[in-house]
Amino acid sequence: MQKTLVDIKGHLASHFSALIDKAKDFVYKNDLELPYLLVDRDKVKEKVCEIGSNIRNAILFYAVKAHPDVEILKLIRDLGISFEIASEGELKILQAIGVGPDRIISSNPVKSMKFLTMASSYGVNFFSFDSDEEVKKLSRYAPGSYVYIRLIVPNEGSEWPLSKKFGVELGDALRLLLYAKDMGLNSVGITFHVGSQCTNVLNWEKALDKAKVLWDHAAEKGLRLSVLNIGGGYPIYYTRQVPDINSINVFVDKLIYERFPSDIKVFIEPGRAIVGDAGIFVATVIGKTRRGDENWLYLDVGVFNGLMESIGGIRYSYFIDRQQSQPLQQWTIAGPSCDSFDVIDRGVELSEPDVGEKVFILSSGAYTISYASEFNGFSIPRTYLI
Ligand SMILES: *Cc1c(COP(=O)(O)O)cnc(C)c1O
Repeated sequence: MQKTLVDIKGHLASHFSALIDKAKDFVYKNDLELPYLLVDRDKVKEKVCEIGSNIRNAILFYAVKAHPDVEILKLIRDLGISFEIASEGELKILQAIGVGPDRIISSNPVKSMKFLTMASSYGVNFFSFDSDEEVKKLSRYAPGSYVYIRLIVPNEGSEWPLSKKFGVELGDALRLLLYAKDMGLNSVGITFHVGSQCTNVLNWEKALDKAKVLWDHAAEKGLRLSVLNIGGGYPIYYTRQVPDINSINVFVDKLIYERFPSDIKVFIEPGRAIVGDAGIFVATVIGKTRRGDENWLYLDVGVFNGLMESIGGIRYSYFIDRQQSQPLQQWTIAGPSCDSFDVIDRGVELSEPDVGEKVFILSSGAYTISYASEFNGFSIPRTYLI
């Protein structure tokens, strides 16, 4: 069982210490209702500047689903990058804050007719696809738009695989690119997703090898592609070291320019890596008990109102603000609802907190609030930028 420990002197603390100090400062200066999620502006800025920075011709699109909070979107808008969306809800928020259609793409391979109509009338004209039916829909609801095919690529070693639901193999990909062209669309490129929280850099290599084969086959058929959309997947630090952003940038840039022409446009769609490790939940211990030989800790944030990804295997780091550290114990950590599904983690090493004490949950900015529901009457925590 994997252990997570954040103590003031612990090795994880050094990674998070600046952020924890900022969060503590906010918590003690503001008497706001708990639980809530804090998102550090400086961290978001740092990540926006870092991701793709060494990749030539890269254009960054923030995957809005990671956290669609309007203040975060405004911050990202002002940093000058673009957005990747999937639905009319995401489009509406961007419209409301004045993001123009030239800064929006949609890489959801199966889009609703309602969304396509709305996006197209706003002027959005870059879309992904992976089926004949989607080509028909695009040519009807977004005629003449620029389209890129979603390729299936290996997702091994990604903690949140995204390969099962979407994508086609090489033969179909070529056929569909040609079909889209016949249907009056502009077939411009290829996309893939190496899997979210991708800690295996070889996934990018395998994906780019496969994209290169398709690129050349398309050229043989007279289709000159220009866009390579490498999706998201950049990992963040939860409880373990991950490949750092800069080395991924350098590696991916090299792979791209060994294979593709130098005037290619590279789209990158990070979600998790932009907001994930900028976020800290501030929760409260609402109960504890010993059941059998397990120590249970109950928090006011759980699977349903924020930590949904814990059931898919994402493990968080926890921090309790103590002056002196006490002996460590192993804890099973659960959320507040009455559903037995609502268990966030097991075997977490922490010194024993008191009921009423605050717990900081680190790297919790992505795929938390955006998944949250009010199941069982527990409200969705608010997001504050710090
Ligand atoms: C979710 C998603 C992303 C973001 O992925 P991360 O792993 O969070 O960076 C990018 N592109 C598409 C098409 C997605 O569905």
